[in-house]
Amino acid sequence: MMRQYELVERVKAYDPDACETTLNRAYVYATQKHGSQKRASGDPYFSHPIEVAGILTHYKLDCDTIITALLHDTIEDTDATPEEIIKLFGANIFKLVDGVTKLTQIELKSADSKQAENFRKLLLAMSEDIRVLLVKLADRLHNMRTLHYILKPEKRVRIAAETLEIYAPLAERIGMHDIKEELEDLAFEHLNPEARGSIMARLEFLRLKDDNVVDRIVSQLDKSINGEGLNARIYGREKRPYSIWQKMQRKNITFGELSDIMAFRVLVDTMPQCYEVLGYLHAGYKVVPGRFKDYISTPKPNGYRSIHTTVIGPENHRIEVQIRTREMHEVNENGVAAHWSYKQGSALQKEGTQYRWLRDLLDILEHASEPEEFLEHTKLAMFQDQVFCFSPKGDVIALPAHATPVDFAYMIHTHIGDTCVGAKVNGAMVPLRTQLNNGDQVEIVTSKAQTPNPTWERFVMTGKARARIRRFIRQQQEKQYKDLGKAILQKAFRQEGYEYSEKAIDGVLKIFKMPSVDSLLAAVGSGNHTGREIVHAVFPGTKDAETARKIVPLERARNRKRDHAIPIKGLIPGMAVHYAGCCHPLPGDRIVGIVTTGKGVTIHTIDCDTLETFADQPERWLDVGWDNEGEPEHFVGRLGLTVAHEKGALSTITSVIAKNLGNITNLRFTNRTQDFFEMLIDIDVVDVRHLTNIIAALRATPVVNTVERARG
Ligand code: MN
Repeated sequence: MMRQYELVERVKAYDPDACETTLNRAYVYATQKHGSQKRASGDPYFSHPIEVAGILTHYKLDCDTIITALLHDTIEDTDATPEEIIKLFGANIFKLVDGVTKLTQIELKSADSKQAENFRKLLLAMSEDIRVLLVKLADRLHNMRTLHYILKPEKRVRIAAETLEIYAPLAERIGMHDIKEELEDLAFEHLNPEARGSIMARLEFLRLKDDNVVDRIVSQLDKSINGEGLNARIYGREKRPYSIWQKMQRKNITFGELSDIMAFRVLVDTMPQCYEVLGYLHAGYKVVPGRFKDYISTPKPNGYRSIHTTVIGPENHRIEVQIRTREMHEVNENGVAAHWSYKQGSALQKEGTQYRWLRDLLDILEHASEPEEFLEHTKLAMFQDQVFCFSPKGDVIALPAHATPVDFAYMIHTHIGDTCVGAKVNGAMVPLRTQLNNGDQVEIVTSKAQTPNPTWERFVMTGKARARIRRFIRQQQEKQYKDLGKAILQKAFRQEGYEYSEKAIDGVLKIFKMPSVDSLLAAVGSGNHTGREIVHAVFPGTKDAETARKIVPLERARNRKRDHAIPIKGLIPGMAVHYAGCCHPLPGDRIVGIVTTGKGVTIHTIDCDTLETFADQPERWLDVGWDNEGEPEHFVGRLGLTVAHEKGALSTITSVIAKNLGNITNLRFTNRTQDFFEMLIDIDVVDVRHLTNIIAALRATPVVNTVERARG
């Protein structure tokens, strides 16, 4: 275990300004807090945070990162409190420690690989400060190095699999190649010990067969390259077992064919020298075709830059050679962490602009004058445009920032989206428009009766949800048009004296260039064709159509007129409208529309009792209002009157109504007693105010006992 002074010395070696006091305080605090806790290895627990801190000193990370490493398990595993850590080490350190703790607390429950990708993104998104992630990776590395102490095989396999799936790719993502390779190899050891064992044996065999081959090749290459006056440094090594294993799987080669196990690296000072070295190699040795890759002109997404080539090298060995500058090498191996060692400014910063997702980070690096300013800005912008939430089963769902439970529901399954009525976030019910946050656990409540709500469109963030909602609205409209078209046609057929038949309509589809009966019905419903047009196409010989219309009874003619002139807002143009006979709505009344299949829309007053019948069918309700801009129209107002049973009473009433410009269209006695008549009178009026005037006038008439608008 590293001693206190050793750690401080190491940090001071690369950062002379390191805050020695705080480092010492953190070391002592961690040892005290973890006290007598033991690791599976039997070591005192505090050896772990100290080793993690030690790993991070290799990357020359700043003092705050090292302190965070020392404290990283205190909140989770000891009685240390946030208050105490803030008091002793400041709010910044606490934020970092807290970040690592949060990463430790989330756990991947699903094994599928898309989940793994989302989980990696979640970890990245939650590591607002890249240093949090660096500490987490070092933590995992040390745990993997000591994994063999864990007794339960299932636990070892679980941790190793998670490392391979999540942490090794994460290390690669942020360019920490070194850590990535070591994590992979350690995981490989626990996940597939047989395969690893035979690879190791094969390597041993090749090594014995060909003693010191790597060294001999290095010196040969050194001669041919540095003989040309370059200051190149050449390294050779065996590839790691896991990368050999991957290659065997990828290329489907057998063990005997496995020759390509040596990798050589040439480090030079400048980029042009890289291509110079390449020239010497390709001129001096036979090139293996198809193996040349130039990651200098086209870097990998994580910023990796190098030239790769494979040649039949010295002693006829097939060797892979990677050529790069020393600075590229540093970044290739240490990724993000490399930038701390280069913060004083160098050529790297300019070259670094080739990074993709790291571009922002480097941009700050280039423009920040002080190291502190750089650190201040290293809060990662990456994945800030996404949030990652958990399903009840533990799946990670990636969503765009500001996404809502409705987006989440649609992401899980279209049907769940269509029928969602509510959501629980972290156990509490929330409105569907609530914005989700990273790490939220979301549970969707569904109901069979629910359908997509058009208002959702205003707050959903995903294209999938939006598309579904729009499609649903369109389908609804089409259905309404179709029902309406059918109603119009049925009426048109009847008026012309024919039986309505869809078979007959099917025969004239071509004339109207329609693919199906449904689309023709919709065309009629939307007003693109009239019912008569269709009837006349079906029965071309109908000559007495004009006559037929003349004999339509007067009342029906008036009703038809009303059906066509629609003073209602909120409906599809051309939709058939009926005014409910139960409540006789009038302009000025508050109204709703009820969609009736095959009949269009029936308008009721909002207080009509009939509406209760439709209470459990919200999909049939239409929000409508009166369109005041229309021409003055006549509507039927129905009044219930109780009138004194005396001579001339009826004529008094009719003349009062006439004086007030009301036109009686129907009159019916409902009850007659010794003293009173009860009757219903239908009166054509302009609007509700007109009717109210008539009611007032009637109430002022002595023979009238009571007047009410008749409803229900
Ligand atoms: Mn730990």
